[in-house]
Amino acid sequence: MLIYDPGSFLRWLAIAYPATRPLANGKGISSPFNLIMARKAIIFDLDNTIYAVSSIADQLFAPLFKLLKESGEVENNFEEIKRDLMRKPFQLVARKYGLTEGLTQKGTHLLQNMTYEGEIRPFDDYRLVRALPVEKFLVTTGFLQLQQSKIERMGIRQDFREVHIVDIESGTKKEVFAALLQRHHLRPSDVLVVGDDPDSEIKAAQELDLAAVLYDKAGLYPDASIPRISDYRQLSAYL
Ligand SMILES: [Mg+2]
Repeated sequence: MLIYDPGSFLRWLAIAYPATRPLANGKGISSPFNLIMARKAIIFDLDNTIYAVSSIADQLFAPLFKLLKESGEVENNFEEIKRDLMRKPFQLVARKYGLTEGLTQKGTHLLQNMTYEGEIRPFDDYRLVRALPVEKFLVTTGFLQLQQSKIERMGIRQDFREVHIVDIESGTKKEVFAALLQRHHLRPSDVLVVGDDPDSEIKAAQELDLAAVLYDKAGLYPDASIPRISDYRQLSAYL
């Protein structure tokens, strides 16, 4: 019986036509992909890497914002906290701004029991990620139900070989990356990590000697010392 595996066909195509990388003189040979796949796998982050948290934040965080406001603990730095919540896990933000243990627990409990049922769409250039003939993994930090609901609403589950939702209290992305490499017999040079947070997935990648690309859609890190892209069209240079 013949089983059609589009992934392996695309990989074959990339190997069978190695002259597909654009030539140095700029007269690239046109091809389906314009790249040679050196990487066997890409590990993606979710929040601000596949979609913009700011696009759902008002609806998503409404109950949390209300809780914080009513607590009276965050009067002066509410806007800063809101901004940080777009990019960092709640527990880290709570620690940074010195929220009381009680308020942190209430906020955590709220988010733990939350799902997102509203509109949510991947970045427009995410369609290029979908088309990449390479194994993809999704590793995100956050609350299980909430992250799952976002993945479901975007319909992206099938884009990934594995999806990992890491609870910040009990695990790290670094541990998940290391286990993933071992499970799939991948060498560090086989893997590329793509994410928006220099302190999270990018740091974990560097600690494991994995190549990493900062997806800086919002232009927050113009001086970053690591490879940085603002559109997935630029990703081919790192594959
Ligand atoms: Mg992120």
